Amino acid sequence: MGKKKKFGPVPNDNPYRMRQTPPPPKTSFIDFNTRRICPACGRDIKIAHNFCKYCGVDLSMIEPIGNDEISKHLATTAVTDPDPGVRMEAVDTLGGFGDKKVLGVLTYVLLNDPDENVRREAADELGDLHHPYSLDIFTKALKDESALVRKEAIEGLKKIKKKIKPKELDEGKPGSREPKQDISKSEESSEGTYNSEDSKEDTFNSEDYREGNNTELF
Ligand SMILES: [Zn+2]
Repeated sequence: MGKKKKFGPVPNDNPYRMRQTPPPPKTSFIDFNTRRICPACGRDIKIAHNFCKYCGVDLSMIEPIGNDEISKHLATTAVTDPDPGVRMEAVDTLGGFGDKKVLGVLTYVLLNDPDENVRREAADELGDLHHPYSLDIFTKALKDESALVRKEAIEGLKKIKKKIKPKELDEGKPGSREPKQDISKSEESSEGTYNSEDSKEDTFNSEDYREGNNTELF
């Protein structure tokens, strides 16, 4: 210990020595008991919030992960464990649950984990969940420094696109605008046009009202 070279670097400050141990996640500790992560932008917000204060998306349909004990512990492991292999396993398991509540933590891992394999795993699982909220995240991940992650982001975008497409096609078809609608509308309007202002008050007796109305008409 005692003999130091005058001009040599202090051993503990040697940057090459630091590289030998894997860097701990640069993620800050997130208490999933009180916080949740927005799946659309990856930032952490209060667990009680139904809207993300950063990007404004509606989170009311997505349960916070902190409400489920097992998922909560796995989420903490996925974000804080010093070993990338363990974090990856946690991410894989969370994704396997197939629940919307894991979207937030997977998003956070994809954007923040220092290990490309862990980020790639998070992208893979997010792709399998193919939630539309992940679109922006995958677009960001296309600029990841790791080619592995960028490829997985492309896969993710493909999976979301596949999910959305059939619905859009159905809605866009000219055939799906059924003529039935027009008929029912015109029926309603022909019945309702007379005295429509008065009838507002007695809607409960609409049947009686109509009958009475008809007899008056004819
Ligand atoms: Zn957000």
